[in-house]
Amino acid sequence: MANLSPLLKQATPVTVARGEGVYLYDEDDRRFLDFTAGIGVTSTGHCHPRVVAAAQEQVATLIHGQYTTVMHRPLLTLTERLGEVLPEQLDSVFFSNSGSEAVEAALRLARHATARPNIVVFHGSFHGRTIGAASMTTSGTKFRAGFSPIMGGVAVSPFPTAYRYGWDEQTATEFALRELDYLLATVTAPAETAAFLVEPVLGEGGYVPANTAFMQGLRERADRHGILLVVDEVQTGWGRTGRFWGHDHFDVRPDVLVTAKGLASGFPLSAIAARADLMAKAWPGSQGGTYGGNAVACAAAIATLDVIREERLVDNARVTGAALAEGLEKVAANTAGIGDVRGLGLMLGNEFVTADGQPDAATAQRAQQKAAELGLLLLTCGPFGNVVRMIPALVVTKEQVDDALAIWTDAVDFATSA
Ligand code: PMP
Repeated sequence: MANLSPLLKQATPVTVARGEGVYLYDEDDRRFLDFTAGIGVTSTGHCHPRVVAAAQEQVATLIHGQYTTVMHRPLLTLTERLGEVLPEQLDSVFFSNSGSEAVEAALRLARHATARPNIVVFHGSFHGRTIGAASMTTSGTKFRAGFSPIMGGVAVSPFPTAYRYGWDEQTATEFALRELDYLLATVTAPAETAAFLVEPVLGEGGYVPANTAFMQGLRERADRHGILLVVDEVQTGWGRTGRFWGHDHFDVRPDVLVTAKGLASGFPLSAIAARADLMAKAWPGSQGGTYGGNAVACAAAIATLDVIREERLVDNARVTGAALAEGLEKVAANTAGIGDVRGLGLMLGNEFVTADGQPDAATAQRAQQKAAELGLLLLTCGPFGNVVRMIPALVVTKEQVDDALAIWTDAVDFATSA
């Protein structure tokens, strides 16, 4: 018999058997505080009873229901309910299964609707692993190298990553917008540019928030040139940043919004939302997929939305996120090796640097491993792998934040004194 193994990168040796709220339990029933939330997927916590009940009921009623032939009720209800949380101008939605697929849908929509070929993305971007999405991903060569030829028609402009440049935010923002204008003058003419594709907070790129001047600068240029502003809210949506959408922090109006992860508390579901007139240019029939808008995932998403609203999880993300940020900043203030703590709501990163300010992935990983040993699960990110991120489920309590901070303090002590 062949000795099979799954092709997966696993950051810690932990194999989990079950989850409950912000906790995961391994096969020996050892409890871990999960501050990865499945990379932000379990917005309502692991196995929230309301989400479980909705999914169980739906499984026993109708599992799939391919909606290119017939429509099903959970998809219709979810569509209606999304109207409660989507920006008003985005009045049409299309469902698929993963963030990458939704990004591909947004790409096709942008090209279709504008009849222009090129997409501008921003340094440090992550939009997924399918070839189109990977071609628009600039947060690490590992996502692209060896896959050539990758998709053409992608131009890259700076993101206002002030810490990396060693500038203040205003200088970094002015630079980024000036370089964008230069790009539009030298590389991709506005008449060739379909969309700006941007994350409100760089995710895999190291948890770097955009800012109001930058996002409004994109909006203003998009309006001037007939370019679409597409926000990738796969990580930042559904309350993660302490507002329902990440772009809500920046008072900016997107033309297309991409969402996944937190949307269905771990069930595979993603969506793009756009103005109906834009969407109509690319549909019907130009997009689709066997499992997209699966009835069970839609039922889970409806329950997720109920839980987020009734348990006031967006407010909780803001309040407990502020407590977590304060605690992380205290740890960083006592640790020369942590150069920056940043993020919004419950989407926070700790950047590890060497004494001369270079990215220090080794220490970040040591802290991550030690934290796992001590019962706190964390992920790293950033182009250099030197940012440890904290993204607990939105149901996390202040006490659980304090427990995580106690472990983090010990893990950082261990990692930086090694
Ligand atoms: N966009 C962003 C901002 C992401 O963070 C991710 C996943 N980390 C994706 C797209 C791709 O999502 P998926 O893994 O579901 O394909």
